[in-house]
Amino acid sequence: MLEKVSVAQARLEESVGKEVVLQGWVRTCRDMKTMCFIALNDGSCFGNIQLVADDSLTNYDSEVKKLTTGSSIYAEGKIVASPGSEQPTEVQVTKLEVYDIAPAEYPLQKKRHTLEFLRSIAHLRPRANTFNAVARVRNRLCYSIHQFFQSRGFYYIHTPLITASDCEGAGEMFKVTTLDLANVPRTPDGNVDYTQDFFGKPAFLTVSGQLAVENYACAMGKVYTFGPTFRAENSNTSRHLSEFWMIEPEMAFYTLSENMQLAEEFLKTLLRDVLNDCAEDMQFFNDRIDPSHTLLESLTKIVECDFQRCSYTQAIEILTNAKQKFQYPVQWGVDLQSEHERYLTEVHFKGPVIVHDYPKDIKAFYMRLNDDEKTVRAMDVLTPGVGEIIGGSEREYRYDVLENRLKELGLNPEDYWWYLDLRRFGTVPHSGFGLGLERILMFVTSMQNIRDVIPFPRFPGNAEF
Ligand code: ATP
Ligand code: MN
Repeated sequence: MLEKVSVAQARLEESVGKEVVLQGWVRTCRDMKTMCFIALNDGSCFGNIQLVADDSLTNYDSEVKKLTTGSSIYAEGKIVASPGSEQPTEVQVTKLEVYDIAPAEYPLQKKRHTLEFLRSIAHLRPRANTFNAVARVRNRLCYSIHQFFQSRGFYYIHTPLITASDCEGAGEMFKVTTLDLANVPRTPDGNVDYTQDFFGKPAFLTVSGQLAVENYACAMGKVYTFGPTFRAENSNTSRHLSEFWMIEPEMAFYTLSENMQLAEEFLKTLLRDVLNDCAEDMQFFNDRIDPSHTLLESLTKIVECDFQRCSYTQAIEILTNAKQKFQYPVQWGVDLQSEHERYLTEVHFKGPVIVHDYPKDIKAFYMRLNDDEKTVRAMDVLTPGVGEIIGGSEREYRYDVLENRLKELGLNPEDYWWYLDLRRFGTVPHSGFGLGLERILMFVTSMQNIRDVIPFPRFPGNAEF
């Protein structure tokens, strides 16, 4: 009986002797006159399997010899130990059928392409090594994220993507509307009449599931949400997307320090899983993507060492005493810029650092106010190369303090009635954080541009594919 196997399975030494079917895409075909060596890839793993096809095949001259890069084929054959040293196994082909011969204009010919070029063919780039590898690591991370929380008794909660509170406080929002933009209904005083809109009021795509998931934490203890988030900020950077995925755990009865502890264990677990289970892909990132080829070494070190902690106030001291000149001046009260984050992680601490207790004026309204009344129990996890990958806090759970903070910021407490209700009926201390999936993916793979770690990136001016 022929067994249908993946390239990953066919490459295992224990598969030697099996009669198999393989299907995939030709990476290269070397024509040696009476035989061809075909490198076949099906995306199941980084490497290819070598198919050896000779002129005993009836369609050898008519089809096999004409195989081009990108062609799709079906092959039957026997897995044998490979005489070559590059791979443990190869396949002696007994039958080969062609689904499609890719013409010469197939854009992914065997040569190095720039990431910019590959971005312009996002529909085909999953067949390129780099994107294949990114997709597999991304998949492993997502699996690991669920495993981490599920094994610790967290419940997975789906928070809405469409929200009518424009008050999540995390960034610019995309509007969701069914109003006819060419003919917008107006109120007598000339404003848009949202009562005629789909939800009867303005609606938006969510920038964070946090406010919603807090309600579940205050009922079920430990919960997390993991889904797409949308930000309409016009920031054309290599670290921002308009649509990205965020993991947001929220824990009742967690202090800020327990929150930081969880964030550290979480990141280390993700790194460990990827290092263990995506070894071949990770070796590629180390050798071909990371310019210093130290990716594996530095991730391994991070898994083994404690993350540094430092208060915002200490961080400002460190930056003020730095010999380096910064483009953005440093003084207590300013938000940390990317150059500051990089100095802290890359130069000063030489590893991940958790900065905590930020000035309240640069953080969101829902963060717990410290007794000094100047700082809030916020924390950001900063990593070398990427900067901020996690932002979190202990939440303000005192009704009066929260209401005051809203008013201070010119927000209307009535808009937050259900959020405030949590603080009215059995309020409890609680904490949580948000991890950007693409940020951790950049960190793990050393990919430099966030647009290359999500299948179809959305950013200002681009929603192609
Ligand atoms: P930054 O300062 O880097 O713009 P932020 O402070 O606006 O981020 P938060 O609101 O704290 O971000 O969001 C939590 C996490 O979501 C961040 O730590 C980051 O990992 C990720 N994130 C935020 N904005 C984006 C974005 N536009 N694209 C991709 N990931 C993002
Ligand atoms: Mn943040």
